[in-house]
Amino acid sequence: MKVPICIFDAKTGVLCPKCESRLKNGELSKSDVECSIKLIKLSRNNQDIDKLNLISSQKIDEDYVLILKDSNLSHINSNDKLINSVEKEFNGKVWFVEANSSIRRFLENLFFPIRILKTNMIWLPDGNQVTQVTIESKDYEKFISIIEKIKKIVNVIRNIELVVEISGK
Ligand SMILES: [Zn+2]
Repeated sequence: MKVPICIFDAKTGVLCPKCESRLKNGELSKSDVECSIKLIKLSRNNQDIDKLNLISSQKIDEDYVLILKDSNLSHINSNDKLINSVEKEFNGKVWFVEANSSIRRFLENLFFPIRILKTNMIWLPDGNQVTQVTIESKDYEKFISIIEKIKKIVNVIRNIELVVEISGK
């Protein structure tokens, strides 16, 4: 497992002088430190978590977004038991996304298990660009509140304005 602070620091919960100064100069966020400690704790009993490489994290409202390097996250996002144990430890909703992934893949990770039918870039008359995503309508009512969260996450992490269309509506 890799995290943005030293493994030793994550295990003990105490930052070494080097990580402490990275935190002070803004190279690390408080959330990076908090999430590293929590994930290392979980990785002791979980091989899937032990394989992760956490680049950084962001706390958005009460949710945590964990940004991971080169991971295939579908086996994580589809593992309810794993997600439950992570969310219990974090005491909130946790989103797993990939660093440097295409916007399509980034959205697929966030929307899972909702299926994305297509994504489009749209230029507005004022010159701004929005990303439109079309999702399947099946059971979408259940997901209305999470769609609002996803819009915010996409805006904070990728600086993209997202418009969500429901197929057939
Ligand atoms: Zn350190």
